[in-house]
Amino acid sequence: MTRRSALVALALLAVAGCGGSVAAHEPHWDYDAEGPDHWADLDRGYATCRAGHAQSPIALDSPAEIHPADHIEVDYRPIPSVNLLNNGHTIQASVPADSGNAIVVDGTRFTLTQFHFHLPSEHTVDGGETAMELHLVHTATSGRLAVLAVLLSVDSDPTPLSRVLTASPDHPGRTGTVTAVDPREFLPIDLAQFRYQGSLTTPPCTEGVEWTVFRHSAPVSIADVDSYRALFPHSNRPTQPRYGRPVVLAGPN
Ligand SMILES: [Zn+2]
Repeated sequence: MTRRSALVALALLAVAGCGGSVAAHEPHWDYDAEGPDHWADLDRGYATCRAGHAQSPIALDSPAEIHPADHIEVDYRPIPSVNLLNNGHTIQASVPADSGNAIVVDGTRFTLTQFHFHLPSEHTVDGGETAMELHLVHTATSGRLAVLAVLLSVDSDPTPLSRVLTASPDHPGRTGTVTAVDPREFLPIDLAQFRYQGSLTTPPCTEGVEWTVFRHSAPVSIADVDSYRALFPHSNRPTQPRYGRPVVLAGPN
């Protein structure tokens, strides 16, 4: 692959993200008949979904290797407006490139580009799944991806995610807008985090993704979970083998 084609591939990857928008040429995949066990059979470009040894999601267990100082820095602030898209796999919110939202992973700044949902959760913590999982997808100037994952547990009351989820477009291809979105409100109070090297959890399952999964969940209302389930009955890839990859449990708490 030439440097130019590598850059183009990275750019396409950044657009696709994890459960990202549907490219016109994308081979069909889903979570049912053409589900996770078959993704690698659907297209040569999806071979990593079966052959990869650094796939996501994974089961996260306490105790992991504990490195309190190795936590990522979250630099989030309110976003005036995000565009929502029902891409047939998830509800994806596109974040403007100049919103100023970013995370810093081992000294590298990754800019927030989009966030989206899975139902039920993809990662498990100490063997337990939660009702949903939020993925905040970030891109470095090099094209590398870093995903911040928040497991969402049901709550009886509306939550900060309700304004996004209740605005979810109800048919594939439809769009919507939500104003004054503050991603800081989506995070758990306790920011302890698991970190590991993984992949996109959707085809093409590309590896080299920096994963940070909060150990503690944040709330999502039962009404929002029920509405989301009506759109996407299930959209979680099962946990994948770790193949000896280290998982670090980092602070700041
Ligand atoms: Zn995702």
